Amino acid sequence: MRFLLLLALLAASALAAQKRYDGYKVFQVKAKDLPSFHAIAQLYTEQSSIYDFWTEPRSLDDPIDIMVPPTYMQAFDQLLQTHNLHHRVKIADVQSAIETNLKGQAAPSVAQEPRSRSGSLRYKLNWTEYHDYTTIVLFLAELAQNYPDIVTLITIGKTHENREMYMVKISNTQTASPTKNAIIVDGGIHAREWISPAWNTWLIHELVENYAAHPQYVDNLDWYILPVMNPDGYVYSFADDRLWRKNRNPVNGPCVGIDLNPIFLFARTEGGAAGNGCDQTYHGPAAFSEDESANVRDAVLSVANGRTQAYLTYHSYGQYWLTPWGYTADLPEDYPQLFDLAQNAVNSLTAVYGTQYTIGSSTNVLYVASGGSDDWAKGGAGIPYSYTVELRDTGDFGFLLPADQIIPNNLEMWEAMKVVAEYVTGIV
Ligand SMILES: [Zn+2]
Repeated sequence: MRFLLLLALLAASALAAQKRYDGYKVFQVKAKDLPSFHAIAQLYTEQSSIYDFWTEPRSLDDPIDIMVPPTYMQAFDQLLQTHNLHHRVKIADVQSAIETNLKGQAAPSVAQEPRSRSGSLRYKLNWTEYHDYTTIVLFLAELAQNYPDIVTLITIGKTHENREMYMVKISNTQTASPTKNAIIVDGGIHAREWISPAWNTWLIHELVENYAAHPQYVDNLDWYILPVMNPDGYVYSFADDRLWRKNRNPVNGPCVGIDLNPIFLFARTEGGAAGNGCDQTYHGPAAFSEDESANVRDAVLSVANGRTQAYLTYHSYGQYWLTPWGYTADLPEDYPQLFDLAQNAVNSLTAVYGTQYTIGSSTNVLYVASGGSDDWAKGGAGIPYSYTVELRDTGDFGFLLPADQIIPNNLEMWEAMKVVAEYVTGIV
């Protein structure tokens, strides 16, 4: 009895340690003219340590989701009125939304898990809930062990908190050839975007465990997949703060963390990312200053020879398929080809459930946001078809996407990936 009480106390203290969001609201704001858009953009650049922009200001057409803490509700309301901004409350209480949609910590009964071919206990990972970093790593390790002809698990370095970072190489050793084209995929740069690793693990599973259904994708292509690029942040988002975005480097005094996305900018001073250490988008002291981004850069450069044709970086949310450049409104020379492939991929994914994705063209972008790893992949590593994909949804749940949407998200995204894979296979 005393033991049970102790357990209950421990559970309560674990919960108490998590950051709470009681009374926080997420507003969807829409600028109706240029001056009101600039007012929001200014809030983003100057006060993103207070107002957490769940989506970046992109253009007049795109709504912007902003999380407001209870103590700033009045000030925010005033701003809405001053600039006559269209708005509505999307999430009335963020803490309740977190508690409703929090999945992943409950360990399933080991005895009920199916067994793998080797007879050992099969991995616990599934796509009906979100999983912590350890579970993801065990899944990767088991696939590498069970499918040595196809899967190689590569360690690419350590994080700031000394966690091992992994890249999965999927390549059929029977059909190995130096002329095979390759695709690089990353996910989980931003810790709170849980759907991104949940899609990346599905992609790995589909290529490897469903190999027989479509051997051509593995026989004719090499894949390099980095499912969780920010393990420290991801672990923190499970244990301490569901809405954590950055890594866990305490370089900026009281405000921990650097946004790993603009760290990749190969022209990072042009706009977007904030320079204040407390901001959600704080970009750190220098490009590739962070262990995580330097490790990924080195890993990508080591495999991104002339035959790597596509780089896809997965984020959430908003349902966008974005083409470079993110850091400037200029278009790359091969934009028509980039757009065509994006259009075909999006058509295929929409055909599954009707989910609409907006293909990002820089022509309607008013505010130059910080570029990400796709900008660098194209401009720095020379990979022609580089995209940022912002996964489900469009803001009803945002980062707190319910786990029952993981499989639909993955099924439609797999159709898009098949289009990219087939296209890349055909490039000679
Ligand atoms: Zn992101």
